[in-house]
Amino acid sequence: MILKNFNGTNSIYKLSFDQQCSSNYTAEGFNVLFVDDTEVNISPDNTVFLVDEKEKKYLQNLGEGACLEISQIGKIACAFGITNDNTLYITDKCNSNCIMCPMAEPARKYGHNTPIPVIKELIRYMPCNMEHITITGGEPFIIKEHLFEILKELKFGRKANTYLLLSNGRIFANHEYCKLFAESVPEDFLVGIPLHGPNETIHDTISQSPGSFLQTTNGITNLLNSKSTSIEIRIVINKINVPYMIEIAKYIVDKFKGIESVKFMGMEMLGNAIVNSEKVWIPYSEAFTKIKPAIDFLIENLIDVEIYNFPLCFVDSTYWHICAHSITAHKIKYADACLQCKEKKSCGGMFTGTDKYLSDSVKPIK
Ligand code: SF4
Repeated sequence: MILKNFNGTNSIYKLSFDQQCSSNYTAEGFNVLFVDDTEVNISPDNTVFLVDEKEKKYLQNLGEGACLEISQIGKIACAFGITNDNTLYITDKCNSNCIMCPMAEPARKYGHNTPIPVIKELIRYMPCNMEHITITGGEPFIIKEHLFEILKELKFGRKANTYLLLSNGRIFANHEYCKLFAESVPEDFLVGIPLHGPNETIHDTISQSPGSFLQTTNGITNLLNSKSTSIEIRIVINKINVPYMIEIAKYIVDKFKGIESVKFMGMEMLGNAIVNSEKVWIPYSEAFTKIKPAIDFLIENLIDVEIYNFPLCFVDSTYWHICAHSITAHKIKYADACLQCKEKKSCGGMFTGTDKYLSDSVKPIK
């Protein structure tokens, strides 16, 4: 979203729709955007700009006390509010380079970190008790121990009711990191860790990082033993690991007692995934056939399972109840044929990018 007429001089603001709250925020030292009908008053700048209906609706959806980071041209870089879609983005960089990653290799290697002072200022501006925050990257632990400072600020500021940290889990092979994590982690915390294969040959081929299977699996074991967080395993289905789905499921049941859930995920065809599409792309209908026995096995073993990023027409209807609306709103695409589908409202759609691979094979449900 871009606020076309934005003319503020700062980058982080608190949002208000109530004169008294706005005055309180200013007194507490926050920069404030006070929305009054179609006018937005900026303090302490003491300037005004106009918003149209679409911009105003966007701001209203964020709610009283939301935190916004805005560029000089009015582009909203990130926002934290009453929506469930709050993402704290730590870095582009990663110590793995997964063959089907939706980010391109140069970004993984040379991308930028959000400066720590900016992250801390965003946390200071965030409202308390938001429904959820996802902490992600790249690999968030690229910033090493600084991530613990961030977790503590979120925890002691009571910023959200639930959290999800997306990490490749390799850092948790280090016992000292596990201990520091246990000391810093907020309540109701979930760590999502990808497992690409049932052995190092498959996993490390996909992560393109020798030794990563051992680190990730040791990391998951250490985290489970620490009992400091819930853990979910994420399996991104691609041509390399699809023949091994049942072996991966058996490995999880055998080695990781106490795992909260397993997510089977369709690929987002961007970045490395596009460059390596010959090696990684598998049609979703074929992918679903291959994951079905693994899903059944995990459920039989009392592990919660969800299917992410699969449109309903690629999944047997008896599994629709475990298909999540997992794609972020601004990335969702539907094919033209979806207009004739009676399940469109229940279907989570396709990733923008992946739609080029799927649109011709959607089957509107009658
Ligand atoms: S036809 Fe379109 S809306 Fe219907 S299930 Fe398939 S992708 Fe979803």
